[in-house]
Amino acid sequence: MNDLLNRKKRSPLLIIILAGAIGILVVIAGTAGFIFFQGRIIDEVEKKQECYFNLVEFKAKVTGAGIEHAGNAATGIDPGGLLLKAKQQDRILRFMYERLAGQMEDSCLKHVPVVPVPSVANSELVVLQLDSAIERVKSEAREAMERLVLFTHMFIFFILALLLSLNFVAGWMLHFNYRLTLIPLRQLADQLKLINRDIPESIHDTAEEMKKELTATAHSHDITQITESIMNFCGDIEAKNKKLDEIFIRDEKTGLYNYRHFKEHLIIDVERAKRFHSNVSLAMIDIDHFKLYNDAHGHIAGDHVLEILAGIIKEESRLSDIPSRFGGEEFAILFPKTDAETALDISERLRKIISATPVPHEHQQPSGQLTVSIGIATFPDDASDWYTLINNADRALYEAKAQGRNSVVTFSSLNLQEGPPDEA
Ligand code: GH3
Ligand code: MG
Ligand code: MG
Repeated sequence: MNDLLNRKKRSPLLIIILAGAIGILVVIAGTAGFIFFQGRIIDEVEKKQECYFNLVEFKAKVTGAGIEHAGNAATGIDPGGLLLKAKQQDRILRFMYERLAGQMEDSCLKHVPVVPVPSVANSELVVLQLDSAIERVKSEAREAMERLVLFTHMFIFFILALLLSLNFVAGWMLHFNYRLTLIPLRQLADQLKLINRDIPESIHDTAEEMKKELTATAHSHDITQITESIMNFCGDIEAKNKKLDEIFIRDEKTGLYNYRHFKEHLIIDVERAKRFHSNVSLAMIDIDHFKLYNDAHGHIAGDHVLEILAGIIKEESRLSDIPSRFGGEEFAILFPKTDAETALDISERLRKIISATPVPHEHQQPSGQLTVSIGIATFPDDASDWYTLINNADRALYEAKAQGRNSVVTFSSLNLQEGPPDEA
């Protein structure tokens, strides 16, 4: 696997260039060799052809001399002059033979075995030997010619095979490159499109999907690195998105949900309760005589109290509840699918815990304790929409203040005293 990765590191383009360069060198060397050997064979063919013609010419000379000598001898005139002429012709024949023998040696042909040397006297025997030599030279010249044709064919075949191999190597490299680079790049591009479309909700799923697709196919080292970078990038974005989500919905000072998140949930939960005919309860919580506390101990000490109370509120809320900071020193808890009675129980328990929890300097408060007042309203009994629900929980809270603080009042208990619910 490591070997495969290392091989993947080499650029396919470099391999194609190297293979091409080697191919060109082999073609140059092959062509030079071909030209050299072709020249030699052509030379050999030419020499053998020349030798053939010379042998034919020599044979004609020998035959002519023999016939002339025989004719002259038959007439019987001037035997002295006849002998002289025969001698001259013998010299010419010997000279021609010696030249021919040199040529035959040059052409790598065996000497014509003329016995002992050609002369008009043995012309018939010489002609017979020359005939066989001519036949041999002819066949050797033909063989050399055939060798030349075969050699040329082999060279053409060699060039074609080389071109085919180069073509195959280049094609294979391009295919390899396509599989390792272009296909993963296309997948990467598809995934990036998905990322752009789905940010931020499914960025994690997208990164996982991308990882699956890219690990399912072979790809180059570069692509692996790009994929890893993108996946790390996706991981970073996801972590930052989570952080941003938290910042977006949390109150910085208390860590409870902020008013934006609280309101969003309130609206959704009231709509859901309308649809499924269920309840939503809301508790508004206000610290008693908190202005006094701040004035006496400063806002930093006041903030610390807000943190302590926020911790208790969070602790006492159920997972489905939305404990929030409504604003200033007021808190709100949204109780989805909860009736007034349950909301009252939880709020009462919360009030008791807060009054029992030790808080710095609380003995200086009017009641000797740091306490809260809580007003509760429930949808649909106390209100028909979300903002009336807030208003009516607020009205119950004011009633709790009016009743002497450190108490919980439900809006329905006000109705008993005052008449039908206020929808304004
Ligand atoms: P009551 O019992 O009637 O509620 O009396 P109160 O003094 O608490 O009056 P109110 O509810 O109007 O309190 C408002 C005070 O809350 C004013 C301000 O000093 C304090 N407060 C509001 N927001 C903050 C905050 O973020 N930090 C601190 N330390 N104090 C705050
Ligand atoms: Mg207040
Ligand atoms: Mg207050």
